[in-house]
Amino acid sequence: MINVVLFGPPGAGKGTQAEFLKEKYQLVHISTGDVFRFNIKNATELGVLAKSYIDKGQLVPDEVTIDMLNAEVDKNSDAKGFIFDGFPRTEAQANALGKLLVSKQTDVTAMVALEVEDEVLVKRLLERGKTSGRADDADESVIRNRIKVYYAETAILKGYYEKQSKYYGIDGVGSIPEITERISAVLDTF
Ligand code: AMP
Repeated sequence: MINVVLFGPPGAGKGTQAEFLKEKYQLVHISTGDVFRFNIKNATELGVLAKSYIDKGQLVPDEVTIDMLNAEVDKNSDAKGFIFDGFPRTEAQANALGKLLVSKQTDVTAMVALEVEDEVLVKRLLERGKTSGRADDADESVIRNRIKVYYAETAILKGYYEKQSKYYGIDGVGSIPEITERISAVLDTF
């Protein structure tokens, strides 16, 4: 099994790359942001709760997010491996993911991080906001808060996976196929 954590700040291109990589490597793509948005659209209890955090650019609490992620993995018991997109975002989530995968006789194979400068991220997200319909892409102050939350709460996971020799940083600026190639060069070593 290959289990890839696709990492990087909001707007780095995780979702875009995951769409290509899941086909190329036959992996199940789990985006916690997409699962939250699906729940918001369907006005579930989880969706109503998540929306109150997402609209402000804050993280949804760990317990809720971890339970949801566990359920998504369990729904795909026949998967050859996973691409985790937007998860983990905290150390508690990283610990939970490790535990979950070890309980399934597997583990995180690699964290592949897309590295992109902040001002490029803001520009990309504002551009995406014109068509994404996402409230959190429409407002520059919410976008900047999401980037701030990334540095305050999520960026520490680089060190977490570096310690396990699983961190691979990739230049996230270039054409979409160029970046897919850079990520593939890492994944092909497994
Ligand atoms: P994304 O689609 O990954 O940009 O996520 C959009 C929003 O969903 C984030 O700004 C958070 O509010 C929430 N979210 C997504 N994944 C997580 C996570 N792993 N932990 C906490 N909140 C999350």
